[in-house]
Amino acid sequence: MTNPLLAPWDAPFGLPPFERIGEAHFRPAFAAAMAEQLTEIEAIANDPVAPDFANTVEAMERSGITLDRVSAVFFNLASSHTNDELQAIQREVAPKLAAHHSAILMNARLFARVQALVDAGEASGLDAEQARVLELYHRMFVKAGAKLDGDARERMTAIMQRLAELGTAFGQNVLADEKDWVLVLGEDDLAGLPDFLTGAAAREAKARGKPGQYAITLSRSSIEPFLVFSTRRDLRETAWRAWTARGETTNWPLVEETVRLRAERARLLGFANFAEFKLHDQMAKTPVAVRDLLMAVWEPARKRAGEEAETLAALAAEEGANIALAPWDWRFYAEKQRKREHDLDEAETKPYLQLDAIIEAAFSVANRLFGLSFRAVEGLALHHPEARAWEVLGPDGGHLGLFIGDYFARPSKRSGAWASGIRCQQKLWAPGRPIIVNTLNISPGGEGESALLTYDDARTLFHEFGHALHGLMSDVTYPFISGTSVARDFVELPSQLYEHWLSVPEVLAAHARHYRTGEAMPAGMIARLKAAETFNQGFATVEYVACALVDLEMHVLGDGDGFDGGFDGKAFEARVLEGIGMPDAIAMRHATPHFQHVFAGDGYSAGYYSYMWSEMMDADAFKAFEEAGDVFDAGTARRLASSIFSAGGRQDPEEAYLSFRGKLPGVEALLEGRGLA
Ligand SMILES: [Zn+2]
Repeated sequence: MTNPLLAPWDAPFGLPPFERIGEAHFRPAFAAAMAEQLTEIEAIANDPVAPDFANTVEAMERSGITLDRVSAVFFNLASSHTNDELQAIQREVAPKLAAHHSAILMNARLFARVQALVDAGEASGLDAEQARVLELYHRMFVKAGAKLDGDARERMTAIMQRLAELGTAFGQNVLADEKDWVLVLGEDDLAGLPDFLTGAAAREAKARGKPGQYAITLSRSSIEPFLVFSTRRDLRETAWRAWTARGETTNWPLVEETVRLRAERARLLGFANFAEFKLHDQMAKTPVAVRDLLMAVWEPARKRAGEEAETLAALAAEEGANIALAPWDWRFYAEKQRKREHDLDEAETKPYLQLDAIIEAAFSVANRLFGLSFRAVEGLALHHPEARAWEVLGPDGGHLGLFIGDYFARPSKRSGAWASGIRCQQKLWAPGRPIIVNTLNISPGGEGESALLTYDDARTLFHEFGHALHGLMSDVTYPFISGTSVARDFVELPSQLYEHWLSVPEVLAAHARHYRTGEAMPAGMIARLKAAETFNQGFATVEYVACALVDLEMHVLGDGDGFDGGFDGKAFEARVLEGIGMPDAIAMRHATPHFQHVFAGDGYSAGYYSYMWSEMMDADAFKAFEEAGDVFDAGTARRLASSIFSAGGRQDPEEAYLSFRGKLPGVEALLEGRGLA
C-alpha cells in the first residue's frame, strides 16, 4: 500500500491527491517526511567539503520538500475542514514538529557552516538575493537558540515543544466552543431580522437537524448581523455573551503558561522580554515604537468612540428605550444611526453584493493593475466540495499559479478569514509555481439563492485576495523568501492596500448587481457607501487597538517581573484596559481567551499591531495612485508589482517600501482614512 501523501503527486497542477488522502495517512507520512529531512540535514552538516552557499543554504532550501508538502495538506485541512481524528493528530504532531525544527536549528555543525558563510561576508561572492537569504537563515538559527549550550539549549527545546502543544490546545478549545453553541430561534424570535439572515439561519438549522427553526451560530457572519438587526435585547445579550466567552472556561491557564514560557524563551536569547525579541527584526523594531503608534491612534479613536456612544444613547432614548448602552446594543443602534446619517442599511446593500460577483471584482482589479487573468477550472478534487479553483495567467498568458477559494462557513472550519499556501513559488525545482488558498466564513445563501455579502465581508474577500496575489505573483529564486514570507508588520500591506480598490466607485458600479433583478447598485447608494466609510470608526479602532495593546503589554513582561506571585492573565487584561480607559460599551475585538492570532500559535504574538503598522503604509501607498490621478495608473502599478507584490522577502521591508514610494509614511494618512484626523 503506498501512502498518497508520499507518492508523487500527479493530479493536475501538481495538486495533492485529495480524494485518496485519508486521516490514517498523516501519522506515517509525517514520520517518514521528518526522518527524510533529518537524513538530508545530516548530510549537509557532515559534508566534508568546505561550506559554500550551494552546499549549505541552498541544500537546506532543497531539504524537507516532502515535509512541506505533507504539512501544507495537513494544516490546510486542520483549519478549514477538521474532525476529531485530525484534531487528535494535530495535538500529537505539533510538539513533534516543534522538536524536529528545533533539532535542525540546534544542529551545531550545521550552524557552524552558516556562521562560516556569514563570517566570510563579501568574499563569498553572493548575489543580493542570496546574501539576503543567508542573513535570514542566520537570524533564524540564532533566534531558535543555536548559540546556546548546555542546560539552556535543552530548556529551549523543551519550551518550544510545550509552546506548540499550548497553541494547538488553545485553538481547539475555541473551535469546540464555537461548534457547541447555537441559538435556536422559533418564528416568534425573528423580530428585526432581514431575509438574508433568516434564510441562512433556516438553512443552518436544517443542517443541524432542526428543520422549520432558525439557528444563529458563533460564526462572525451569523452572529454579527444578528447583533445588528435583532430587536430582542434579551437575545442579543445572550448571543453576545456566548460570543465573547469563547475559550473563557478553558484557555486562561494556557494563556498564562504561554506568556511565561515566551518570556523565558526571550531571556534565554538575551532579550529583556518577548516583545523586544519578537520586534527586533520587524519594521517596528521596538515595543516603544509600537506603543507610540498605537497610542497616537488610541486617543483620537477613544475620543471619537465617546462621541459615538453619546449619539447612540441619545438615539436609544429617543426611541423610548430606557437603557444604559451595553456592548450588545452598540451594533444595533449603530446600524440605525448609519441609516439615519447616510440613508444606508445593510439589508439594503447586501442584495447587491453577491459572492460570485465580488470574486469577479477582485479578479478584474488584478487584471487592470497587473494584467492577470483567471480561468475557472472545473472537476478538480480539492480539500472540500465547496472549494473552487481558478488557474491564474500572467500578463503574457502564461501559467502563474492556481488559486483556490473556500468561502463558506461550516462547523469544521475555524472562524475568521485567512490566506494559505499548498505550494509556494520558487525557482529551484519543478513545479515552482504556487497554489494559494483563500478561506472565508461567509454564510451560504438561503435555499437556491446566491450567497450575499455585507460590505465588510466584501472587504475581507479583497483583503485575503491581496495576500493571495502576494503569493501568486511572487518571483524569487528561494522558497525561504517566497511570497508572503516577509516581516509580519509588512505582510498586511498588500492585503490592506487591495481593500482600497473595492470602494472605487467604478468597481462597485460594474460588479455590485442585485441578486434578483441584476440591476447595478445605484450611483447614489455607492456614494452613500463611500461617505459612510468613516462611520463608527471610533468603535472599530477602539476594539482593535485595545487588542493590540493587551497583546503588547502581556509580552513586555520580563521573565520573573510581573510573574512573581503568579501571573493572572484575566486580571492583567482588565488592568491594561482600565489603564487606557477602555469604554464600557465596547469590548476587545478578540478577548484574550479566544485571541487566536496571538495564542493559537506564534504568528501574531506581540504582533497584532501589525495591521495598523501596515495600514500606515497602505493608506499612504494608495495615495500614490491618487496622486498619479488614476487608481489604475500603469506606472504606479508596475512599481507596486516589482517592489512589493512580486518581491517576496528579497529586500528589507523598509527598502522595499522606499523603492515603491520614495519615502516612508507617517500616521497622517491612516488617521485621515479612518476619519480620525
Ligand atoms: Zn491579512
